Amino acid sequence: AGARGVDSGSRPKVTFDDVAGIDDAEAELIEIVDFLRNPARYHKLGARIPRGVLLYGPPGTGKTLLARAVAGEADVAFFSMSASEFVEAIVGVGASRVRDLFRQAKEAAPSIIFIDELDAIGRSRSGNVSGLSGGHDEREQTLNQILTEMDGFEAGDDVIVLAATNRPDVLDPALLRPGRFDRRIAVQPPDRPGRVEILRIHTRSVPLAEDLDLERVAAATPGATGADLALIVNEAALFAARRRHERVQQEDFSDAIEKVMLGAERQVVMTEADRRRTAYHEAGHALVGMLTPGADPVRKVSIIPRGQALGVTLSTPETDRYTYQRHELLAKIDTALGGRAAERVVFGEISTGAESDIREVTRIARGMVSRWGMSEAVGPIAVADGNDGATLIPGLTPASPGLQELVDREARRIVEEAERRVTELLTRERQRLDALAAALLENETLEQEEAYKAAGLEPPAFDVEQEAKAGSSP
Ligand code: ADP
Ligand code: MG
Ligand code: ZN
Repeated sequence: AGARGVDSGSRPKVTFDDVAGIDDAEAELIEIVDFLRNPARYHKLGARIPRGVLLYGPPGTGKTLLARAVAGEADVAFFSMSASEFVEAIVGVGASRVRDLFRQAKEAAPSIIFIDELDAIGRSRSGNVSGLSGGHDEREQTLNQILTEMDGFEAGDDVIVLAATNRPDVLDPALLRPGRFDRRIAVQPPDRPGRVEILRIHTRSVPLAEDLDLERVAAATPGATGADLALIVNEAALFAARRRHERVQQEDFSDAIEKVMLGAERQVVMTEADRRRTAYHEAGHALVGMLTPGADPVRKVSIIPRGQALGVTLSTPETDRYTYQRHELLAKIDTALGGRAAERVVFGEISTGAESDIREVTRIARGMVSRWGMSEAVGPIAVADGNDGATLIPGLTPASPGLQELVDREARRIVEEAERRVTELLTRERQRLDALAAALLENETLEQEEAYKAAGLEPPAFDVEQEAKAGSSP
C-alpha cells in the first residue's frame, strides 16, 4: 500500500534497516517488537505491555515508516487506516470500519493496527461547537468506537495499536488515558549524522559519482526530514538523468536541495538568522551551566528544532536529587536565564524564544520565597499560591495582601539579581560563548565532552547511568 493507502493484514517488508536518524524512537519500539515476536513469554510472566503507542512529530519524520517497520521486524500482520478519510464520510462508516479493523486484527494476532493522522478524528471535543461542522458526528462516532475497542481488549488479545499525529496538542485527553495511548514517542527531524544515514538508505540503489560526499549533502540540509531527504535523492537522480550523467553528481544534489528545501512549505523553517540566534541562546544556557558552581553538569546541547523548542540544553544531576540547597536553586535560575541573557549580550535584543525559561525561573523563584523560606524578608513562612491555593493545602490560611505582595517583590528581586549576574558572566566569557555557538552551528548537536571542549573547559567526571533521568531546559 502507498503512503496514504490502507493495509488490511499485509506483512510489510520494511524493517529498522530502512529507518535512520530517529534512534530514540526506534529504541523505544524494540520492546513492542519483542512482545509481538513472542507474546507467550510476556504472558507467562504476567507482564503488561502498552496497548496504545502514539508516535508524534512533524510530517515526514518517518512515523508511518516506523509503524510499518515494527510490523516488518516482528513479522506480523499490519492493519491500517487513515483517520482523515472519515472526516467527510457518511455517518457510521468510520465506526464500522474501526470495528472491522479491530476484528480482523484480533483474528490475525499477533498484529498491529496503525491509525494514521489520529488528530483528524481525535481532536479535543471540548473545543468543538457540536453540530456545526458536517464531519463532527462522524468524527465523534469514529473516535468513540476506537475508545470502545481499545477498552475492550482482553489480556490475550495480542494486538498493539500504533497511531501517528503531527498535532499531539489538540488530541482529546480521553485518548491519552491509561490503557489507551498511554505510551507516547516523539519522532523528530534527524541531526546531521542521522541525515547522512538516511541519505545512505535512500541512495542504496542510486549510482553515485565517486567524489560525491553525502556528508556535504547532510550539512547543507539542516531541518530536513527523512521525507525531504528521500525527495532530494529522487530529484537529484532526475536532474542527473536529464543531464545525461552516468552517475548522480554533486551539482545534481545541489540543485535538488535547492528545489526541495526552498520549494517545500516547511513547518519548522530555520533561517540562518534563526539558527544563529538559537545557537547563542543554547550556548548561553550551556555555558552558564558549565561555569556556575552548584549547577547540574551539561549533558548535551542541540539546535535541532523539536516541537515548540528551537533548541535544547540537557543538564543532569550527578545523583537522584530530592533536596536542593539555596545556591543550587540559584544556579538553576542562572542557567535558565542564560539563553535570554546570551541573546541580549550578542544581539542587543531579546526574542520570544525564552518563554518556557521564564516560566521555569518564575516557578523556582516563587518556590524559594513562598515554600522553602529562602527569602529573609518573608522568612520561613508558607504562602499559598494564587487565591484558592490556600484551601487546598491543609494548615495554610490565605496570606494577607501585604504578604502576597512581598512574595512577588522578593521573587522578582531574586530573578533580577540573577539576570544581572548572568549577563555579566556572559559578557566576561564572550570568547567561550562565541566558540560554543560556532561549534553548535557547525555540528547542531554537541555531546557533553564536545560541548565542554568547544567552550575550552574540562568536562566533569560523570556517571553515564544518569542519562535516563535527564532534565531539560528548552
Ligand atoms: P510521517 O509519517 O512521519 O509523515 P513517513 O513515514 O510517511 O513520514 O515518511 C515518508 C517517507 O520518507 C518514507 O516512506 C521514507 O521513504 C522517508 N523517510 C521519512 N523518515 C525517514 C527516516 N527516519 N529514515 C528513512 N527514511 C525516511
Ligand atoms: Mg505518515
Ligand atoms: Zn532557553
